[in-house]
Amino acid sequence: MRDICYRSKKLGDVTVRGTSRASIQSFWNIPEWDLGLDVGGHPWDLTPQLGRLFISHTHRDHILGLYQLIARRQKRSLPPPEIFVPAESEDVVRRFLEVWQEMDGTRYPFHLQGLVPGDLVEWETASGTRLQAKAVRSFHRLPSLGFLISESETPRLAYTGDSLPAILDENPAFYQAEILIMEMTSADMYYTPEQIHHFGHTHFLDVQERREKFANRWILVSHFTCKRSMDLLCRHIAEAFPDRLGGRLIVW
Ligand SMILES: [Zn+2]
Repeated sequence: MRDICYRSKKLGDVTVRGTSRASIQSFWNIPEWDLGLDVGGHPWDLTPQLGRLFISHTHRDHILGLYQLIARRQKRSLPPPEIFVPAESEDVVRRFLEVWQEMDGTRYPFHLQGLVPGDLVEWETASGTRLQAKAVRSFHRLPSLGFLISESETPRLAYTGDSLPAILDENPAFYQAEILIMEMTSADMYYTPEQIHHFGHTHFLDVQERREKFANRWILVSHFTCKRSMDLLCRHIAEAFPDRLGGRLIVW
């Protein structure tokens, strides 16, 4: 059953599924890796492929579907999810889940662990691929993390969550990862860079400034402000990035 709309795209040997819009919801899923990145909403049909979830920060558009994921995994007799959050937020997330369980009159199993920058999480996929996620410091208005997913020390996917562009500059592997999923909250001049930076976000001019640094095969930009229509944003991005960063830019 498809209860929430999201996009899906095959990039090399993995599928990227998800949606991201500021203030609405952000969630990503790589089914081949049993991996989720943020859970602002939780689509019912993705439940089996979200055994491992990395949450960048606790703003509602990034975490509101967490309780649904935990409850639905149990309802569908799936193993409890492994959930990773910034260490500073572990206690409040645990309390949030306690309140939900009290409201629901039930208990659900889950594993919750706080991470600090530099922490590593390793796992093996169903097909035998060994992966490692590294937590990196991101720059937002709350304790926050970005994540770098590597296979045999090759950076496969980098995820900025919500952050100033400094996350890219301070983690050169983000420019090297095969797939980069980055936020670009402002894709036009509706907000100035100063306004966007004040709220801990990235402006399209930040991306333009760094255009020579991106060595990624695919660069997904998303998390656009809900104050602008997607039609308008797509038209502006086509003007701002006429060659679409060498054809690598994917507007999501
Ligand atoms: Zn945020």
